[in-house]
Amino acid sequence: MSTPGFPEAFSLKGEVAVVTGGGTGIGLAIARAMHGAGARVVLVGRRESELAAAAGALGAGSSYIVHDVTQLDAAPALVERVAADVGPVTCLVNNAGIHLKKPAVDTTPAEMESVLRTHVLGAHALTSAAARGMIERKAGSILFTASMASLFGIPLLIAYTAAKSAYAGMVKAYATEFSPHGVRVNAVAPGWIETEMSRKALAGDPARRDRILTRTPMGRLGVPSDIGWAAVYLSSPAARFVTGVILPVDGGISVGF
Ligand code: NDP
Repeated sequence: MSTPGFPEAFSLKGEVAVVTGGGTGIGLAIARAMHGAGARVVLVGRRESELAAAAGALGAGSSYIVHDVTQLDAAPALVERVAADVGPVTCLVNNAGIHLKKPAVDTTPAEMESVLRTHVLGAHALTSAAARGMIERKAGSILFTASMASLFGIPLLIAYTAAKSAYAGMVKAYATEFSPHGVRVNAVAPGWIETEMSRKALAGDPARRDRILTRTPMGRLGVPSDIGWAAVYLSSPAARFVTGVILPVDGGISVGF
């Protein structure tokens, strides 16, 4: 097996990456980093205005499709459309997500269902749709945006924790099943990153923000590009023997005291 040198090992030239939630925050940073590494990127989300602005800012080699990941039956059509417009999907990033901060006892079954549908069922439907072609071509990378909630318990996040903990198991199960077919499956687990989602989650709760910063050995929140470059690594030939891992990118919070 030939070994790529630097910088080819980290190049995504020739790849077609679909990034859900790619119009904002962490998803946009992942798309920007993958685009910078040479991939053609397709941003997916529900709000056309955000997607159009993001794709416009990235420029040539980027495009967008308005798509709701909770429309599970529409996943194969999305993958077919990308194949027709740009090329077969070689990298899938399951990043779309919604947050819910609420006492566990007040979290309704409908809220549980909504959060699980977006994160778990949405990612599963799209993974199934994209992985079929990857398995046929014997190559591909699938990435999940996990969370600290995949690793430890966080109060007031029962639905979100259920969803992100599911990712921890899904990554391992997919990696085991897809490895013989040349498809790698990994996750990035961001610590607290400055985005619209974290701003809303921490708004009006300075005690929670202080607790996060005190617990984080690096003493600060991360920025979206911290996750983008980790995503490039995990999707690139540099990580060709890496599968089934959840990579914390968290300023040390998951190992901090
Ligand atoms: P944002 O709110 O900016 O990103 C969420 C993205 O998901 C939006 O672009 C949104 O677009 C998209 N999305 C939500 N629901 C759907 C849907 N049904 N179909 C398609 N797209 C959807 O927040 P972040 O960038 O922070 O979050 C991105 C991911 O990172 C999430 O999975 C989140 O759980 C995870 N994460 C974030 C952390 C943080 O500290 N910020 C920490 C750990 C994990 P639209 O509304 O237009 O559909």
